[in-house]
Amino acid sequence: MQIHWTKINRVIQETPEIRTYMLDCPDGFTWEEGSHTHLGLEGFNAGEKPDKGLVRHMSISTLPDEASIGITTRIRKQRSEFKDMLEGLDAGSPVAIFKTHSNVPLKREGKNVYLLSAGVGLATFRPLVREYMNRPDEVRSLYSLNIDSSKDHLFPGIFESAPKKGFTSKFVDDRDEYYQHVRNLAEDKDGLFYVVGSDAFLIENIALLRGLGIKAEQIMLDKREHMVQEFLG
Ligand SMILES: Cc1cc2nc3c(=O)[nH]c(=O)nc-3n(C[C@H](O)[C@H](O)[C@H](O)COP(=O)(O)OP(=O)(O)OC[C@H]3O[C@@H](n4cnc5c(N)ncnc54)[C@H](O)[C@@H]3O)c2cc1C
Repeated sequence: MQIHWTKINRVIQETPEIRTYMLDCPDGFTWEEGSHTHLGLEGFNAGEKPDKGLVRHMSISTLPDEASIGITTRIRKQRSEFKDMLEGLDAGSPVAIFKTHSNVPLKREGKNVYLLSAGVGLATFRPLVREYMNRPDEVRSLYSLNIDSSKDHLFPGIFESAPKKGFTSKFVDDRDEYYQHVRNLAEDKDGLFYVVGSDAFLIENIALLRGLGIKAEQIMLDKREHMVQEFLG
């Protein structure tokens, strides 16, 4: 396993609770849209065994053409030791990234693609939207639906509908409204549905979509293959 030590080059305060940490891109490091990585804080591998308290899975919210690795996360008042340490980091601080992999690349199958997310789950989809806007080939249209009760929309410049380009972005803050939208989207029996959020959010969305006749193979989750089977099984 290759561990890349790199440095934070910028911290962007996206909303009162959400920050993006921009990391220098190590030489030769690349990734595809939908990737997640393991973010390790200084000291995570100092002992005999890695300190899991200093490591979290994080999606990469940028594309390689942005030249930095973006890590977007919510830091609440009540937070873990990991988030507490992360909050104290700034430009120049070292962090490690390793085991980077995409479970949810943009599928180019000539279908409508629906991105369903809750809260900061939108970070996983940001590079998919940019990838689509850069090159829409073989994707009929793209639709993002995000539920977030905070009313502070994340990435407003990217998640802005562009009708001429076949991209629609919708933010809702109400559960009933969210699920009514999902019901409407699921009228497309041939669409591809990507879902990112807590496990409880995945379970509710999967149950609704399956109940409306969407097949397991049309539902994409940011999970390893064996976990996908467990959720969709
Ligand atoms: C493939 C994958 C991709 C992911 N991508 C991202 C991503 O891009 N961004 C992201 O943010 N997360 C992502 N996650 C989730 C991430 O790994 C963390 O699990 C998540 O951010 C929570 O972090 P945390 O455990 O440090 O807890 P925190 O975020 O600090 O807290 C989680 C919850 O516990 C509460 N809490 C924490 N400490 C206390 C306390 N002492 N007392 C009371 N309540 C407390 C908080 O208020 C909060 O509600 C991803 C996970 C996977 C599997």
